[in-house]
Amino acid sequence: MTSLFDSMFIEGHEQVVFSIDRAAGLKAIIAIHDTTLGPSLGGIRMRVYPSDAAAVTDALRLAQAMTFKAALAGLDYGGGKAVVIGDHTTTQREVLFRALGRAVESLAGRYIPTEDMGTTTADIEYVRKESRFGVGRDAAFGGGDDPSPMTAWGVFCGLRACLEEVDGTAEFRGRTIAIQGLGKVGYALARYLHEAGAQLIVADVDTTRTQKAATELQARIVTPEDILTQQCDILAPCAAGGIINQNTIPHLRCRIIGGGANNQLLVDEDGDTLQAQGILYAPDFAINAGGLINVADELGPGGYRRERAKAKTENIYPTLKTIFAESKRCGVASHRLAITLAQERIQAVRNLRRLNS
Ligand code: NAD
Repeated sequence: MTSLFDSMFIEGHEQVVFSIDRAAGLKAIIAIHDTTLGPSLGGIRMRVYPSDAAAVTDALRLAQAMTFKAALAGLDYGGGKAVVIGDHTTTQREVLFRALGRAVESLAGRYIPTEDMGTTTADIEYVRKESRFGVGRDAAFGGGDDPSPMTAWGVFCGLRACLEEVDGTAEFRGRTIAIQGLGKVGYALARYLHEAGAQLIVADVDTTRTQKAATELQARIVTPEDILTQQCDILAPCAAGGIINQNTIPHLRCRIIGGGANNQLLVDEDGDTLQAQGILYAPDFAINAGGLINVADELGPGGYRRERAKAKTENIYPTLKTIFAESKRCGVASHRLAITLAQERIQAVRNLRRLNS
C-alpha cells in the first residue's frame, strides 16, 4: 500500500493539513497540490466517508484535479481542496465552518476555499468570519453567488464541442442525454439542454428532483442504478466521482461522456478504455471549469463581473476542441492529453521563474 508521503511525492502535492476542532466537531483535511501558478483554490466538500483513508484519497485527487482545471482554464491559481468529514445535512454549520475558517486562515492564503458538494455560499460566509480567504460569496458581499449555474453553462458549451467532434454538428435537438444527479449543476444543465431541444433521461437519489424534471423538462426518470446503462448520445455525470470504471464501462451505451462531476474516471486507465471503445470523453476538469472561473473572478480587477466570467467560461468550447484535435493527432486519450496541456503550462511558468531568478 502506498504511504501518504509516497502518494504526495508521486502526484506532486505540496501540503496536507489535518484539522480537528473538538468543540466544533470538526474533522477536516486541506490538500494543496501545486501553487506554481498562484495560491491554491478549490471547494470544500462535506460528506461521510467509509474511512479516514478514503477522505484523504478524495482530498488528494480533488486537489490535483483543481490544479489541472485552473491551468487549462488559463487561471493564475493552483489546486487545493478541503474535505470536511461528516453529514452535510447538519444544521450546526456556524461552529463547524468557523472552525474550518480558522484552519484556512492559518494557511495565510495558500488555500482559498469555495463551495462544493455538501456546502453552500452560506458556509463560505462562516469561513469568512474567521478568515480573509474564501470566494463564491453571496452577491450581497460582492460575490458571484452560487457558481453552479456557471459550471452548468460551461458544461453545456463543452458538450457542443463534443457533439461537433462526434457528429460534425452541435445540434442538441433530437439528441438524448442521460443526466446522473440533478443537484445544483445537474438541474441547471438539464434546463439548458431542454431549452436547446434535447430529450432528457434523469436519475437522482432525491426523487423530488427527478419529479420536478419530469414535470418541468419532460424528462424520463430512471433509477440511480440504471442511469449509466441508458442508450443515449451523451451521458452527463453530475453527482459523485469514480463512476466510470472497469465495472461500469462494459455496460455503457452512450457515445459521449461529459458532465459536471469531478473525478469521473476511477483511474486514468479507464479513460484509455473509453477511447479504445470509441466513446468520446470530455475530461471533467476541462468541461466543468465554469464554477472555478466564476469564483476566481471575484479576485479579478474590480471584483466580480458576471459577463467577464461568462466569456471566460465559454472558452471551454475552444479548449475542448483543441484537446480533441490534439488527442486525435497524437493518438492519446483525451484526459491524458488535457493533463499534458495543463502540465506544460505549469512547467513553462516554473522554467520562466528559474530563468528570472
Ligand atoms: P449537489 O450536491 O447539488 O448535487 C448532487 C446531486 O447528485 C444531488 O441531487 C444528489 O441527490 C445526487 N446524487 C448523489 N448520488 C447519486 C447517485 N448515485 N445517483 C444519482 N444522483 C445522485 O452537487 P453539485 O454542486 O451539483 O455538484 C455535482 C458534481 O459536480 C460534484 O461532483 C461536484 O464536485 C462537481 N462540480 C460542481 C461544481 C459547482 O459549481 N457546484 C463545479 C465543478 C464541479
